[in-house]
Amino acid sequence: MAKIISGKEVSAKVRAEVKAECEQLKAKGIHPGLAVIIVGDDPASRVYVNNKKKACAEVGFVSEEYALPAETTQEELLALVEQLNNKPEINGILCQLPLPKHLDEKAVINAISPMKDVDAFHPSNVGRIMIGDYHFLPCTPAGVMEMVHSEGIEVSGKNCVVIGRSNIVGKPMAMLLLHENGTVTICHSRTQNLKEICSNADILVAAVGRPKFVKADMVKEGAVVLDVGINRDENGKLCGDVDFDEVAPKASYITPVPGGVGPMTIAMLMKNTLKAAKIQNFH
Ligand code: NAD
Repeated sequence: MAKIISGKEVSAKVRAEVKAECEQLKAKGIHPGLAVIIVGDDPASRVYVNNKKKACAEVGFVSEEYALPAETTQEELLALVEQLNNKPEINGILCQLPLPKHLDEKAVINAISPMKDVDAFHPSNVGRIMIGDYHFLPCTPAGVMEMVHSEGIEVSGKNCVVIGRSNIVGKPMAMLLLHENGTVTICHSRTQNLKEICSNADILVAAVGRPKFVKADMVKEGAVVLDVGINRDENGKLCGDVDFDEVAPKASYITPVPGGVGPMTIAMLMKNTLKAAKIQNFH
């Protein structure tokens, strides 16, 4: 039976470290601040934004919320981003995605100052990740790596398979595993022989967005299985991309959903915001 890597525990440790460092910064007169922009009234986005604000309060950051109506124009949104880029008390800017259809997400991401881009979505930060010379890592893949490190799991030389190639999760995830000398395969919706490829993985990351997609026959005995998915099953219950009950007996380590990668993402956002505050004040 696999050891369960608890995102609740690992993320609490990360938040405690951030909090301790935040106190040291405050003693020097620096008060880290995160601005969160939310446009419209998507209920899932509202939950995420509330959780981010709660995490800021817990670690001692200032958080500012900018809740804009769904009919906000592109110009208004870009003007707000520009204002926050120039606001010294704000170290990190995050625009909760998805945006309403009439708004251009790419333009908004590009408008955020790369030094305040704590989601690491700006092309300049994405490029930096590619060459391994980065300020910020994208929160979800960084959270997955933090869980791997928390158990002392060695990546070097291992067969790593990432299912999913999104810009937010799959691609940067593959890059972080490569940085640690994994032999990485990225699978996606057009991949052939998915089962065969996955069953060769020593480390398998699922970022597909399909409930219980990864079954036991896709997993090698003793593999490390990391589940990024957040889905609802047929009964409306929260579940991952991995069929936990089937896969857990076969894996050596597994992350649960809920209580796995989810809480790590916000903890890593706190870590990035702290780093942004340090860079902006000491460099
Ligand atoms: P996405 O829809 O952008 O990407 C899904 C990827 O899965 C695509 O690259 C696609 O090619 C691949 N895919 C789809 N069907 C497939 C199939 N049959 N076989 C192989 N590959 C297939 O999703 P995303 O934004 O990368 O998110 C993935 C999952 O992770 C979602 O459940 C999302 O809710 C979750 N997520 C969780 C967090 C977190 O904090 N834990 C953060 C972001 C996303």
